[in-house]
Amino acid sequence: MIAFARSYIIKGYGIRGRKEKILDLYSMLCKHISVDRDIQELDRLVVEDIRGEFERIDGIRLVNQAKVLRAMQEEGLAENHFAGTTGYGYGDTGRDVTDRVFARVFGGEDALVRVQMVSGTHALTTCFRAVLRPGDTVLSVTGKPYDTLEEVLGIRGNAPGNLKQFGITYRQVDLKDGRIDLEAVADKLDYSVKLILMQRSTGYDWRPALSIEDIKKAVEYIKELKSDVYFMVDNCYGEFLEEREPLEVGVDIAAGSLIKNPGGGIALTGGYIVGKKELVARAAAALTAPGLGKECGATLGITRSFLQGLFLAPHVVAEAVKGAVYASRIFERLGFPVSPGYRDRRSDIIQSIKFNSKEQLLSFCRGIQKGAPVDSFVTPYPWDMPGYGHQVVMAAGAFVQGSSIELSADAPIREPYYGYLQGGLTWDHMRLGVLITLQQMKNEGHIALIPS
Ligand SMILES: *Cc1c(COP(=O)(O)O)cnc(C)c1O
Repeated sequence: MIAFARSYIIKGYGIRGRKEKILDLYSMLCKHISVDRDIQELDRLVVEDIRGEFERIDGIRLVNQAKVLRAMQEEGLAENHFAGTTGYGYGDTGRDVTDRVFARVFGGEDALVRVQMVSGTHALTTCFRAVLRPGDTVLSVTGKPYDTLEEVLGIRGNAPGNLKQFGITYRQVDLKDGRIDLEAVADKLDYSVKLILMQRSTGYDWRPALSIEDIKKAVEYIKELKSDVYFMVDNCYGEFLEEREPLEVGVDIAAGSLIKNPGGGIALTGGYIVGKKELVARAAAALTAPGLGKECGATLGITRSFLQGLFLAPHVVAEAVKGAVYASRIFERLGFPVSPGYRDRRSDIIQSIKFNSKEQLLSFCRGIQKGAPVDSFVTPYPWDMPGYGHQVVMAAGAFVQGSSIELSADAPIREPYYGYLQGGLTWDHMRLGVLITLQQMKNEGHIALIPS
């Protein structure tokens, strides 16, 4: 199927001379990447449209940069902290300082930032293991959790060691019009509910991300009804999108991946958990062993990249958000449904785009791959990724394998054909990646622009 651009009108350029300047920019650009005139014109219009959004993004960036800077200063970060340890990793002051810096930045009493956490799923699983005991119930109040957590919780399949096998029950309350359905939550709160799970980001869904204000309201409401319950947030893709983080509004424990937002594109692997001191201690015991807790875990010289990544993260996230705003508007102008809209408030870096067919979605992914600095020559195909219940296509040519703070797109192969676009270490890269993608989709006959 072909999506036609809504006809767009070339507005008067106002000041003469500006037009020549812009034409000059595109002629210089086309020395390096080939983009048809109609796509250039679309780019020009979209950049005009979104200019007003950047001020707010820059404001959030500045506040978060200040937060990170202050945390590093107050913890007395010093050169010797980057040295790293081997073996057991006893007495690793760099590791300890990293934990404390993360705790400050994310508003927790303590944190666990470890190269030994292999992914976001692992960090989140470690939180479950920390909090839940046989007989307990975990209640997700944001509907179905992220795909990989379905296997962890035992909602799908029967993977060895899933939580169901340990006598832990899972229940959920679906979102209502994209918001937490507090009345339905009240109905499901019984004595067995030990943990309330909230997912901040959209995941493979079509909904706005959960805002910090929404999280705050849910915590306050539920605490009124039941005080002996813990709140956990899956913070993947949400870090640094707002001036506050979930722990600052009453959440007890949160976790995420270092190859997403908080690693700033620099961290090579790893995950983090932040939360109440007691829960972080239990998470450390779950990650290593009871009795070992936080005392073990060699850093192998990776501490510098964790902290440098965190330092850059507010900036890199702002770049990714600008790129997402741009992508939102450009695909909207081409007639595709998008979520969020370019003017909407955001609480994650994801831009969802609804395509008309599997072929159109795959063409989009081929385009994103073509725009990557690494592996730009490969063709992404759908495959059975571990942890997912359906085929997934991933377009990523990243410096860090699977890093989705770098420009990347992914999509489950199922109807409706939603594509999820995120990242871009610089917003220029997102812009170029999208232009290359549109050219690819046009060449393959999946979009047609109507030149004004
Ligand atoms: C990416 C993601 C996860 C899982 O992270 P991995 O690092 O891929 O294991 C969990 N929840 C959400 C919302 C995510 O975006």
